[in-house]
Amino acid sequence: MSTHHVIIGGGPVATNALETIRSIDGGDSRITLISDEPAHSRMALPYWLSGQVPREHTYTADDAYYARHNVDARIGMRVTGVDPDGKTVSLSDGTTLEFDDLLIATGSSPAGLPVPGIDLPGVQPLWSLEHTENLLAATQSLDNPRVLMIGAGFIGFIMLNAMHKRGWNLSVVEREAHVLPRMLDGQAAGLVEHWLDSKGIAVHCGAEVRGITQNDAGAKVVELADGTKLEADVVIIATGIKPNIAFLNGSGIDTGDGIVVDDRMQTNFESIYAGGDVAAGPSLFGPNAIHAIQTTAVDHGRIAGANMAGEEVHYPGSLLMNILDVCGLQNASFGDWSDPQAEAVTICNPDGPVYRRLLWTGDEISGAIFVGRPNDLGMLTDVGMVKGIMQTRTALGPWKAYLTENPFDIRRAYVASGVAGKLVQSTLLGRPAQPRDYRFDGSSPQTETGSAHQLYVGLKQ
Ligand SMILES: Cc1cc2nc3c(=O)[nH]c(=O)nc-3n(C[C@H](O)[C@H](O)[C@H](O)COP(=O)(O)OP(=O)(O)OC[C@H]3O[C@@H](n4cnc5c(N)ncnc54)[C@H](O)[C@@H]3O)c2cc1C
Repeated sequence: MSTHHVIIGGGPVATNALETIRSIDGGDSRITLISDEPAHSRMALPYWLSGQVPREHTYTADDAYYARHNVDARIGMRVTGVDPDGKTVSLSDGTTLEFDDLLIATGSSPAGLPVPGIDLPGVQPLWSLEHTENLLAATQSLDNPRVLMIGAGFIGFIMLNAMHKRGWNLSVVEREAHVLPRMLDGQAAGLVEHWLDSKGIAVHCGAEVRGITQNDAGAKVVELADGTKLEADVVIIATGIKPNIAFLNGSGIDTGDGIVVDDRMQTNFESIYAGGDVAAGPSLFGPNAIHAIQTTAVDHGRIAGANMAGEEVHYPGSLLMNILDVCGLQNASFGDWSDPQAEAVTICNPDGPVYRRLLWTGDEISGAIFVGRPNDLGMLTDVGMVKGIMQTRTALGPWKAYLTENPFDIRRAYVASGVAGKLVQSTLLGRPAQPRDYRFDGSSPQTETGSAHQLYVGLKQ
């Protein structure tokens, strides 16, 4: 009898896993996918929010896609429990389903905020299709919506950027001493705060929210611990995320801050795998961690899928990377950028603004932070080259001294160390990646990108 793979979730981990399984077994096994949401890319939500693409362009799979891959997709269904020894999952319709192996790809959810007023209409998270739809509906009839965001993290700022493109009146409250506390150090974040200020976006850092109320005019009033009161039409709760693991309580699956997996994405049960936002997987720099980014989710899905299909594939680990446009200011950080043990070289010019910090462990770059203006092409190419140097774990030898003297001349070290050649040769599964088809409605996405991008896309085809 053919193997039955069960996948919980319909995000990038799930779709990459099922495509990898099919690329290996050619359709021989049985795959059942259970997801409570339609398959879509959360990364695409800001483009819908800003009005650049319609909702449909966020979708990543439809019935035809699942049929083409011979997948029994149960969309709108939840998994409510897992029995690892009996090898069954319980479903929200009261039935159970047997599996030979299982992939838990349930992602994460907004962490919320335990303050009074959190359930008021117009107070909401901004993480899913439904949340984006709610926000667009809440602001539809307002000329210049006032939106206050509680939490100044990476995902929140991606959505802030989308709202800025709409021209909305924005403000931000952050409990930590500076914005983007898990992406930038204080000095770099200071440049971002100054930039936001120049765009008319008020930022309140070191500010604890005491509660939210609604005044007679229907506006939300956010009260801070120091007594300050801030008014808005909509309040976004962007206080971080938590992995979706509650349904595993009592299952015996090892969950710490996320599901613990090894370098094959296997949990403490041989037949159970996990990946993406729900899993603490291997990191290139630092201990196992939840990265909660798309690139890690895609890698996890491919590694888990290959191992579920019977291959023995080990994952070297993901590079933690956050690349972010804050209302035109470009920011990136990679790897262990806050490591206090690392040797660091820092350049900061607030007038640029330009910020660059390279962190060294021996002669390897183990962390990096960049901040630069929109048209700083040098920075953008350097960001890509530093990422390549880190992903290939290239020891830079004498180039370390050179880069310490000349941190704006990454190119020479990159070329001389043969990083591009290593990148070309490196593959996750030991073979070239396959191009993926567009997975909604059998059609190609409409593009409004400029001619340079069109040329690049044309060259790739
Ligand atoms: C607005 C936004 C913008 C982002 N932008 C970027 C970006 O620019 N770059 C980047 O690298 N990352 C970005 N991310 C993060 C990225 O989208 C996530 O890291 C990625 O989606 C994780 O993939 P996943 O497959 O682990 O989980 P998800 O994509 O969250 O998919 C998991 C699915 O499983 C479903 N599910 C959960 N529990 C159950 C259950 N019990 N039963 C059935 N189904 C269940 C969930 O509802 C969900 O549909 C962004 C995220 C958001 C929200």
